[in-house]
Amino acid sequence: MCSSTKYIAKEVFKITANELLKKYFGYDSFRTGQDVIIEKILNKKDVLGIMPTGAGKSICYQIPAMCFEGVTIVVSPLISLMKDQVDSLNQIGIPSTFVNSTLSSLEYIQTIENISQNVYKIIYVAPERLESEDFIRLINSINVSMFAIDEAHCVSQWGHDFRPSYREIANVILNMKKRPIVAAFTATATEIVKKDIINLLHLEEPFLLTTGFDRSNLKFSVESISNKSDYITNYLEKHKNNSGIIYCLTRKSVDSLHNMLSELGYSVSKYHAGMSDKERNKNQEDFVYDRTSIMIATNAFGMGIDKSNIRFVIHYNMPRDLESYYQEAGRAGRDGEPSECILLYSRSDIVTNKFLIEHSETEPDIEISTYTNEYDKLNDIVDYCNTDKCLRKYILEYFGEVPLFDSCGNCGNCLSEIEVTDITIDAQKILSCMKRMRKNFGSNLICDVLKGSNTSKIRNFKFNELSTYGIMSEYSKDTIKDLIYFLVTEGYIEALGDKFPVLALSPMANRVLFDGEKVQIKRKIEKISKISKQLDIDYDTNLFEILREIRRKIAEKQNVPPFVVFSDATLRQMCIYFPTTVENMLSISGVGMNKTQKYGSLFISAISKYIEENNITPKEFPNKANKKETAALQVSSNVNEDVIPKIKESTYITSYNLFKQGNSIKEIASNRSLTVKTIEEHLLKCFELGMDIDLSSYVQKEFEEDIKKVINELGYERLRPIKDALPEKVSYFDIKYFIIKDFEIGDNIYVNRKRFNN
Ligand code: ADP
Ligand code: ZN
Repeated sequence: MCSSTKYIAKEVFKITANELLKKYFGYDSFRTGQDVIIEKILNKKDVLGIMPTGAGKSICYQIPAMCFEGVTIVVSPLISLMKDQVDSLNQIGIPSTFVNSTLSSLEYIQTIENISQNVYKIIYVAPERLESEDFIRLINSINVSMFAIDEAHCVSQWGHDFRPSYREIANVILNMKKRPIVAAFTATATEIVKKDIINLLHLEEPFLLTTGFDRSNLKFSVESISNKSDYITNYLEKHKNNSGIIYCLTRKSVDSLHNMLSELGYSVSKYHAGMSDKERNKNQEDFVYDRTSIMIATNAFGMGIDKSNIRFVIHYNMPRDLESYYQEAGRAGRDGEPSECILLYSRSDIVTNKFLIEHSETEPDIEISTYTNEYDKLNDIVDYCNTDKCLRKYILEYFGEVPLFDSCGNCGNCLSEIEVTDITIDAQKILSCMKRMRKNFGSNLICDVLKGSNTSKIRNFKFNELSTYGIMSEYSKDTIKDLIYFLVTEGYIEALGDKFPVLALSPMANRVLFDGEKVQIKRKIEKISKISKQLDIDYDTNLFEILREIRRKIAEKQNVPPFVVFSDATLRQMCIYFPTTVENMLSISGVGMNKTQKYGSLFISAISKYIEENNITPKEFPNKANKKETAALQVSSNVNEDVIPKIKESTYITSYNLFKQGNSIKEIASNRSLTVKTIEEHLLKCFELGMDIDLSSYVQKEFEEDIKKVINELGYERLRPIKDALPEKVSYFDIKYFIIKDFEIGDNIYVNRKRFNN
């Protein structure tokens, strides 16, 4: 039981928290930072977790909340999210509720009554509640173990969403009989906001964790294209079943794109501030509940949208700064699945944005400083659109991070090849021709001379006698002109005069003419996009539609959004592995014990029917759920009653502890009435989990080299052939030990039974 244990050893924590993650949430492993934060909270430490959207902050406090004896209060400013969060928790069997202004008075009274009866494990509250004396009295009458503060930056005036009632939180906590643990979370990480959070929430020597802004599942790209609507229809055609947002700069463009796409038969909704509340709410709900798949909107859309399965966010126009871009684009892929963020860029967007800055009606008296600041920010995003370096790196550096990579390998730029063409000779021809023409002329005449045209103007100037006359006759005039303008943009040629622009050599031209400077044109050529491939991974799309329909019906019945039932990623896995048993169902990521009990049979029978009708032989499962665990899960029919399992020592931890106390494997076996082989398995598992354990005196080291040689030849997937290839005396224990010790096989390999089937 967590609360009575003074210090939870890392190892014990790792295994038990992992078990909760699997049983309740159905996930196999923690994401970066989650495990560390959970460990700290379980050890009664205040924490401040700064993690980007979609990193999985909720699980960081939900799992500790399940372990603590008392109740966890979650303060959140986003009322629209509370219901989804609470629905999700109840779905997986963690009794939860919310208290905010959307409750009717009857619902409110019932909820309060239930709270005082200790019905819930997790209670979400809007910050305004903390100003109510009644509510304070109520939470003082129950055992509150932890306060989790979501969107903690709301406490700071420097953040963008300051909420005065967040300032009350510290007071409320201060006045509680027993100080609960305080765990704060945000995605905003400026120093000043961070300090404010720590000071204003009175965090006590908090453990600070910043996982950074990086969202590795998002593929960023910029497309400079003139025909945007063609691009959109093309894209949508290729990503038919995906949910996505298209952001436009103005209401007018939202309306016209919406018209066009709905006429073409796409399932689209729209959202902008010019619509009635009612219409907006309806459209938002249609989108969130998967009734329509595409949302076309201005930046008014998105605050408090927790839809996790958004596969793409396309910006039809360049937004005014990278802050808003990253926030809007970041609504893609909250479920961690590969998703795309595409910015369609055209030079006219700069003009529109400048216009919007200059005519910003929201702030009629903008000070000069912010005014220029807005222009600076606009310049930064224009640079983002024009860079040929890694886009992800550009963004991270913009937000003050020092990325550990030069190219992420998964953005539009990293995935395109830069084709370099050396045009030094052509440049020399153009520049020397201009030099020989002596005076400054317009580009047309220069072009004609290089092309070798026979015009009266050329004859008058006697340019047909120049050695450079006709020197580029094999090129078209357009090509020559392009080359000339390229040299202008590179600074070798200057454009002078206003009414009739004429061209002159710049001092830089001499470097090319006389000093051997090379001139190169770089062009982007798209490689095949890895992500698009991943998006179209090989799953059975027909079955996907069937399962989606089942999910939609369940969701409708329970009045929750579909992704609360199962995520897209989870359904897709079902369409790859076709689980037809409870055991297999449980090994699908995102399927926990409770959901298996609730919906497992619905999905299993649909899948069984489908594979029978279509004569499909399911693939083998990648990692089978532990058999014993499955059996246990099937008998515990109602987890809701015995609310949350107290963290209890796993059987291999018992063996581990006995081993650490100095008992031999044999002694542990007889002590626990288990076989030596079982104890060996326990200890090997601990060894693989990276726990501090020395098994070297139990292995036959003299065979080490032989064993490794055989593994190198045969691989480590199957043990039997390895054993057969080695002397009789070598044991499975020896083999497993050296596989774990010397081969990089990632986490959880030992736990993954398949590899170790003898
Ligand atoms: P945040 O609050 O940081 O934006 P959420 O807590 O809403 O993120 O989590 C985003 C999504 O990631 C949710 O769908 C959640 O279920 C999923 N998720 C969280 N942790 C994991 C994990 N360890 N493995 C797989 N998915 C996870
Ligand atoms: Zn990149």
